[in-house]
Amino acid sequence: MRTTSCPQCGMSAAEFGESGQLGCAACYRVFKETLVPLFKQIHGNEFHRGKIPVSDPSRQQARRELIDLRRALKKAVGQEAYEQAAKLRDRINELERGSERRHVVHG
Ligand SMILES: [Zn+2]
Repeated sequence: MRTTSCPQCGMSAAEFGESGQLGCAACYRVFKETLVPLFKQIHGNEFHRGKIPVSDPSRQQARRELIDLRRALKKAVGQEAYEQAAKLRDRINELERGSERRHVVHG
């Protein structure tokens, strides 16, 4: 397998694929051939990601609740209210598991 990397900044095509960002100006020349399909991929992903979010208000609510719960959990731990903290953690786990199913795309 041939790996291309930039002689100037040392960035590899794989790294570029992950970050989607060029390390330096020379990268463009080095990755020119790899770039085109990658850019398409990145652009496609972002477009896809941008299309999903708002349509599911229950998920947004869950996210909000998670933030509140985490804050409460931190507070409970800080006050050494471990029983309450355990309850909060259970609820957080429950919510996280619930939203995980919709998150499959991420892997
Ligand atoms: Zn470079």
